[in-house]
Amino acid sequence: MTAISEHTQNGQPLLRVNGLKKYFPVRSGVFSRTSAWVKAVDDVSLTIQHSETLGLVGESGCGKTTVGRTILRLMEPTAGEAIFEGNNIFHLGAKELRAARRHMQIIFQDPYSSLNPRMTVGSIVGEPLKIHRLAKGSDLQDQVEQLLIRVGLRPEHHSRYPHEFSGGQRQRVGIARALALRPKFIVCDEAVSALDVSIQAQIINLLKDLQEEFQLAYLFITHDLNVVEYLAQRIAVMYLGKLAEVAPTETLFEDAQHPYTQALLSANPIPDPSKQGDRIVLEGDVPSPLNPPVGCRFHTRCPQVMDICKTNEPPLIHIGPIQNEHQVWCHLHS
Ligand code: SF4
Repeated sequence: MTAISEHTQNGQPLLRVNGLKKYFPVRSGVFSRTSAWVKAVDDVSLTIQHSETLGLVGESGCGKTTVGRTILRLMEPTAGEAIFEGNNIFHLGAKELRAARRHMQIIFQDPYSSLNPRMTVGSIVGEPLKIHRLAKGSDLQDQVEQLLIRVGLRPEHHSRYPHEFSGGQRQRVGIARALALRPKFIVCDEAVSALDVSIQAQIINLLKDLQEEFQLAYLFITHDLNVVEYLAQRIAVMYLGKLAEVAPTETLFEDAQHPYTQALLSANPIPDPSKQGDRIVLEGDVPSPLNPPVGCRFHTRCPQVMDICKTNEPPLIHIGPIQNEHQVWCHLHS
């Protein structure tokens, strides 16, 4: 099993995910029987501290979005636990889950489809406050207007509809909605990927400011390494449903130990091209999670593959003097 990071602050982490699995059934035949399972997330463990940003990176289809949504129980997990402030989110009944959701929110990738086009911006941002019975009447309107101002919109925007806004403005509405209940933890699921580069920078800076102001913790899911280098204190790299490497951001960029992380970094454009190293080109496509390779899941594409990699799953190896700070799953280090 993937081990738990003990990178803690003030004792306990805000969130501890342990052995998370999410399998999707593949049904076939006239009776729609389950004939196989897509192992989208397969035994992932991680921790997130109060006010910390953990970047979760990997190619599309590696399971990172499923991790984020399952932690919030927008999808039901197959196995594992998610301990948030002492409570296992996966064991909560409907009422307790609703209460826990006050503190756990999500910002989606696509600001175009994540906002109800028939609702005004004021109703969208105020809806969580109404559902949790935290405000009504003029107090609700005040709180919504304050939220709009805080994310860089104007109070009068509350009566407008999403289609009247640009992509960046809509993402600001999504952020205001996520912020309404004063959460402690937000999953940012490719939250800036659909935006133009200049707008991306504005939204990233907004998220950073809000983190400081409200002591937010983020799980920042993205395929863009430059974004997490700027935002995250630690980065977890995923490949085909499993973690490959977890390390503090600077360590990962300067001393990546997993061949997959090294390949991702080599393909990552950097501002000074003279410092760009040789690109490691990975052969072939990511295998299907329906039938993942035996042994190390990366062995079919790894430039440093050995015989043991084709049969034995790599164990967790701790790199460096601080236990659990830099974790890598690779036979090269065992
Ligand atoms: Fe490559 Fe083997 Fe390490 Fe997997 S375990 S990343 S195949 S060297």
